[in-house]
Amino acid sequence: MTDPATSWVDGADGSGFDVDHLPYGVFTTPDEEPRVGVRVGDHVVDLAPVAAASFDVHVGLFEQPTLNVFLATGAEEWERVRSWLQDLLLDPAAEAMVGPHLVPLSEVAMRMPFEVADYVDFYASLDHASNVGRIFRPDDAALPAAWRHLPIGYHGRAGTVVVSGTEVVRPSGQRRGADGPTFGLSERLDIEAELGFVVGTPSPLGSPVPTSAFASHVFGVVGLNDWSARDVQAWEYVPLGPFLGKSFATSVSAWVTPLAALDGARVDLPGQDPAPLAHLAVDEPAGFDIAVEVLLDGEVVARPPYSSMYWGPAQMLAHLTSNGASLRTGDLFASGTISGPAAEQRGSLLELSWGGQEPFEAAGRKRTFLEDGDEVTLRYTAPSPRGHLTLGEVTGRVVG
Ligand code: MN
Repeated sequence: MTDPATSWVDGADGSGFDVDHLPYGVFTTPDEEPRVGVRVGDHVVDLAPVAAASFDVHVGLFEQPTLNVFLATGAEEWERVRSWLQDLLLDPAAEAMVGPHLVPLSEVAMRMPFEVADYVDFYASLDHASNVGRIFRPDDAALPAAWRHLPIGYHGRAGTVVVSGTEVVRPSGQRRGADGPTFGLSERLDIEAELGFVVGTPSPLGSPVPTSAFASHVFGVVGLNDWSARDVQAWEYVPLGPFLGKSFATSVSAWVTPLAALDGARVDLPGQDPAPLAHLAVDEPAGFDIAVEVLLDGEVVARPPYSSMYWGPAQMLAHLTSNGASLRTGDLFASGTISGPAAEQRGSLLELSWGGQEPFEAAGRKRTFLEDGDEVTLRYTAPSPRGHLTLGEVTGRVVG
């Protein structure tokens, strides 16, 4: 515990963790149970004792090993808790109540913030889909026939979604070889810089969720790295899509940024041609102005702009429930690799090295795919009324 450091309240510390942000996570301290906290500056607000002292919010939401109980309460309660906390943090008279429950980040260990129900990954960047098409299928049209009509996706593996900081063991798999397939360690291990969306409010089987209900169901966003073994993927993916080439690990940030914090980052989608069918139409800004940085061993190697994504997350949610599939609390869906039109905006090493044919430079060396010991970090920032938000970063080191 420490004295309440309050320079973060109005964003003056430049941390991107001021009262406009308030991302949720699950943390532990030595000899104490995991519980829910909110990040402010370089501290975590231990929410359960603060709730117990204020009587306005149920302690049971926060004495939990995951966010799922809070996520399931729904959008009205998310907003009520957010307003309660903002009022407390901005009220000098409440400092004596909050101050003792500010825990320095250096004293906590972060856990997986929510229990993942189902996990779906989309393919929503026009530039990424075009690049991958050119690299994997140089003789065919770059975009699949359905690509401009629906956000293409696949069901991933919920049980292997891990929190930022978890080491990623290089996967083995079957790959194409000159004399037939071989089985062994992936030689083309890659990343995909993505944004993930966390569902709080469930929906009943048989009831599609319209694009207009996006904010009623989606609680917030996480940074997400969809680790990909390209050699395994390239051999296995026809015709049913990715399987073992991606299911070995997906990393998410420890902090979940509430959708409400991103109101100032909403932007129009870049433009859809042809116009989507009615059930995928959106009538408000459906994109987000979120800047992404990809760091390889501490050096920025790409700056993908989320604002360039062709399909918005409300459309992804409407599409994934358009057949009546239900939503569960803890469902996670990801955007797909974020790539912009420029070479330095590509969100995968596959694209940055153009299929491994054109090595790029990082930390003074020519690089293509990941080597054992490499550390990859994804950083995200978004505009907000008081400056900017720093969304939860995602980091992971490759081990052999
Ligand atoms: Mn992906």
